[in-house]
Amino acid sequence: MEIFIKDIPEEGLHESGQFPASIFDLSPEDSIRPMGAVFYDVHIHAFDGIISFYGTLKGPFQLKCGTCLEYNDYEADFPEWNSDLDLEEKQRSFLLEEVIREEFILNLPEHLRCDELIENHLCPKAELVDRVLGSAESDEEPGGNPDAWKALDDL
Ligand SMILES: [Zn+2]
Repeated sequence: MEIFIKDIPEEGLHESGQFPASIFDLSPEDSIRPMGAVFYDVHIHAFDGIISFYGTLKGPFQLKCGTCLEYNDYEADFPEWNSDLDLEEKQRSFLLEEVIREEFILNLPEHLRCDELIENHLCPKAELVDRVLGSAESDEEPGGNPDAWKALDDL
């Protein structure tokens, strides 16, 4: 949906609707899988060189667990979406679907372990990873592997 900046009135523009999952155009290997249409309800204001957006975004996704690499359902719900678009010189319009696509990609959690997504669920690879990290720790000098220490802290 192309929006021309000259068409945005001073009091702002209110748009709501949905875009198909195809706006994401991601590889099937990507850690984010859009699973259906995404819904938006947005207020758009034009300022000098900047377009500002606020509203709500929702949509069904699957996210890949960073540990077991399984995909799990995730309902994205951003009730207080708020962002700005810096306009290029002479830019006269923008595509709303591109703004919304970026916003989902920026805000979806990355490398989340599936136990953080699903209640009462243990990542099938969690124990294995803990064991590998545990043995790495005993082989190394204390503090020798900051990543392993950080991973243990996160548990
Ligand atoms: Zn997992």
